[in-house]
Amino acid sequence: MKEVDVLVVGAGPSGSICSAILNKNGFKVYCVEKEHFPRFVIGESLLPNCMNYIQEAGFLEAVNSYGFQYKNGAAFSWNDEYRYFDFCDKTTPGHGTTFQVVRGEFDKILIDEAIKQGVLVDFGIEAKDIEFKPECVLTTLSNGELVRSKYIVDASGYSRVLPSMLGLEVKSHLSPKKAYFTHIADKISEPLYDRNKILITTYPEYRNVWFWLIPFSNGRCSIGVVGEDEYIKSEGLNELETLKNMFIRHPC
Ligand SMILES: Cc1cc2nc3c(=O)[nH]c(=O)nc-3n(C[C@H](O)[C@H](O)[C@H](O)COP(=O)(O)OP(=O)(O)OC[C@H]3O[C@@H](n4cnc5c(N)ncnc54)[C@H](O)[C@@H]3O)c2cc1C
Repeated sequence: MKEVDVLVVGAGPSGSICSAILNKNGFKVYCVEKEHFPRFVIGESLLPNCMNYIQEAGFLEAVNSYGFQYKNGAAFSWNDEYRYFDFCDKTTPGHGTTFQVVRGEFDKILIDEAIKQGVLVDFGIEAKDIEFKPECVLTTLSNGELVRSKYIVDASGYSRVLPSMLGLEVKSHLSPKKAYFTHIADKISEPLYDRNKILITTYPEYRNVWFWLIPFSNGRCSIGVVGEDEYIKSEGLNELETLKNMFIRHPC
């Protein structure tokens, strides 16, 4: 049995940042991640406030020096209208710029930094069963090992490990939305196109359907469309064809 102060479930950005900060503050941390890194995750256009946490965790130099696409704002378009926001115009303290990142690479850099700082991390291990005792938390891992911790942090993202194990899931009152996305070689040759901003384009007829275009520093970009089912009809097409179809009907 492993005995630690904190068990962190998941080694995405939340897991790596919170593991590093806890470790810096003298807690003995053990982080388990069910996948092997790098792995694909969506969520590539960061907000400047992320940089404050990256800095607090001691990851800033590694992130700044990697060569990710610099990002200083967001641009929005709808029909012929175009507006942009420069994040440096904000009035609060802290970082005003950030990056657009391939998440597989970004998440690996963060967790590698946490490991360098002394956090114990195991990949390919899933937190399977969690039991809250008055004096500790007992977690059974997929390799059969038992972890005894004072605290547990759920950094499992969309898996929502604790809410699903403890029956705390609450149905959202928001209407369900679908997203189709992929990475492509962007071949953007328009000289006025601003690679330093995420571009959000609202569908001409349906204001609740929108596209994203997130350029990376490697000549590729992330494209996607989000909306309610009834507006993003697959019409018998597969996921990639549905995405293509949406862009053909309304290119960004
Ligand atoms: C379509 C879409 C677009 C998005 N675009 C953006 C964007 O542009 N910018 C942005 O900032 N955010 C965006 N997001 C949100 C972003 O994806 C998430 O906020 C972010 O990934 C959350 O990070 P995390 O570390 O909390 O979780 P994750 O990155 O999901 O990491 C959780 C980790 O926990 C692991 N795990 C799960 N269960 C277990 C278990 N039982 N045991 C061990 N490990 C486990 C998983 O394998 C995973 O690696 C987008 C989301 C969607 C759906």
